[in-house]
This record gives sequence, structure tokens and C-alpha cells, in this order.
Amino acid sequence: QTGDDRAAKIPRYVRVNTSLWSTEEAVQFYTKRGFQLQGAFASSKGFAIDEHIPDLLAFNPALHFRDDPSYKSGKIILQDKASCFSAFVLSPPRGDPKAVVIDATAAPGNKTSHLSALMGNEGKLYAFERDKRRFSTLKMMLSKAACRNVEAVNADFLTIDPSHPKYSLATHILLDPSCSGSAHASVEIEVVEEDRLNKLAAFQLMMIKHAMKFPSVQKIVYSTCSVHATENEHVVRSALQSDEAKSRCFKLAPRGDVLPTWSRRGQVEEMMGTGDADSLVRCVPGDDDTNGFFVSCFIREHDSTLSPE
Ligand code: SAM
Repeated sequence: QTGDDRAAKIPRYVRVNTSLWSTEEAVQFYTKRGFQLQGAFASSKGFAIDEHIPDLLAFNPALHFRDDPSYKSGKIILQDKASCFSAFVLSPPRGDPKAVVIDATAAPGNKTSHLSALMGNEGKLYAFERDKRRFSTLKMMLSKAACRNVEAVNADFLTIDPSHPKYSLATHILLDPSCSGSAHASVEIEVVEEDRLNKLAAFQLMMIKHAMKFPSVQKIVYSTCSVHATENEHVVRSALQSDEAKSRCFKLAPRGDVLPTWSRRGQVEEMMGTGDADSLVRCVPGDDDTNGFFVSCFIREHDSTLSPE
């Protein structure tokens, strides 16, 4: 299978930006324009409501929405289904003016705008981005998507002090750091450079361990668009074994909290045969109607010795 063959099997996903529009309004809008709710592959005019991610629509892969008024106005975000998993699994507090959430590696901002919408545009969402040029793209995207609860910060997440009064209250952190990008369906044959993967994995682990130091954090989602266990299961294993995880009682969230009906889970052999693989989600490019992806979710166990009698 070539990259083009794989890409042709992936629907054109359209996430309704619920900060500006509702799925009902979107369905009505597209129906009026001649589309029919009959599945993404039934015809070029077919579309569907996704079964896993709320407010996600799937259209025929041949379609492009760049010139559509719904895209130009920010009412829809063109985002692959698998890439919607991260914010959905993090499931930040909704409609809570006191909520504090961090997107540690934000640009271009698809997952930031998704988090903002899931929060009902309430509370505070800090979006860090290290790269200056990508930071400008992020700012543009956030303004187009009407994300009023986001404060974008052009900074390296690793330099952010977890005890800073603004950030120390963060309860949820999304970590979608730079990775090899090897899971994109259009990637043809990848020359695997072990050295590069190991460097990326060391950086990814450092990011998770830093996120674990935020004193109020209860939930951390770590995701990549890599197919390599080096950047996925191995990073998660090392994070679980780290002093940061042990001293702060982090473990993997159970399958029931991580897209339970999604059948492709983490690679058991890469998790040393433990049941932990079931807590992880993988997507295989082309085979799962998505690009390739990996999602994990760390949660903080409450220390029973500290709970009141
Ligand atoms: N979550 C984004 C989205 O869905 O639109 C994609 C994030 S992309 C995979 C990773 C981003 O993290 C890049 O823009 C990169 O510049 C940024 N980045 C990498 N290391 C960082 C760091 N230490 N602190 C902040 N941003 C970082």
C-alpha cells in the first residue's frame, strides 16, 4: 500500500467548533448544501457523525473544505479523528470558571481549540509553544476559533516553574510533544534512525516528568503521531518507573476512561506483557480510518493515608 492509498481510505474529518457552532446546526448547514447523512464513503456527498468523538463529522476523502464558509469563519476545524483523541481523553472540566488546564506543546493549536471548546470556553487554558513562528500560527488559530479562555505563552514548557502561582493550580495537562511523525498515513518508507528516536524519547520522557511536578495536576495525557514503541510504550513505561511518578502516585488510567470501545490498544509485548497495554490506545495509519496515533493517560492516585477518617 502506498501512502496515497492509505490516505484515500481516511475520511475528511471535520470537527465542529462548539465555541461557535453546534453539531445540529452543522448537519443542517451541510444537508442544505446537498450532503446526506449516509456515511462518508457512500458517495461524494455522503457524510457521517463519528461514533467515538462527539461533534466530529466524517466526509468523503476527496473533499476539501479550505474554501468553505464554515472553515473560513472558524466554525469547523479540519482535524484527523485520532488527533481528537488527546483532548477528549483528557476531558478537562466543563463550564468551570475556576478550571486551570495546560496545553504544554500547543502549535498549530488544533488540540488547544478542542480543549477550549470542551471547557465551554470557561476557566483558564495556558497554551505553551516554544517556537516563535509556530507561536504566531497558534495565536492566529486561537483568534479564528474564538478561544476566549486561552492564554498563549511563547515559552519552553520545561522552563516553566510548576510552583508559579498562575500554573500551580493546573489540574489537567495535555502533552503532545514533537515526535518522529512516522504515523502519518502519507509517510511512505521511513528510514528508522535509532539515534534520533532515542533522542526524541529522552525529550518526551523529560516533558512527562516535568508535567508530573505540577502540584495540583490530576491527569496528564501524553500522545504522539509516531508508530514507534520507542516513543510510545517505552516512554510510558519509563515515566511510570520514574521517581516523579512514584513519589506523586501516578499510574495509567484504566481502559474504561480511555476510549473503552476503541479496540486497538497498546502493544502488550512492549509493556512487558502487563495489563497496562490495555490502558493505551493506538491507531494504525489507513487501517483504522485514521492517521496513526498513540494516546496514554496518567492519573494521580489519591494517597489513602492522607484521606480524612
Ligand atoms: N498539539 C498540537 C496540535 O494538535 O495542533 C501539535 C503539537 S506538535 C506535535 C509539537 C509542538 O510542540 C511543536 O509546535 C513544537 O514547536 C512544540 N514544542 C516542542 N518542545 C517544546 C517545549 N519544550 N515547550 C513548548 N513547546 C514545545
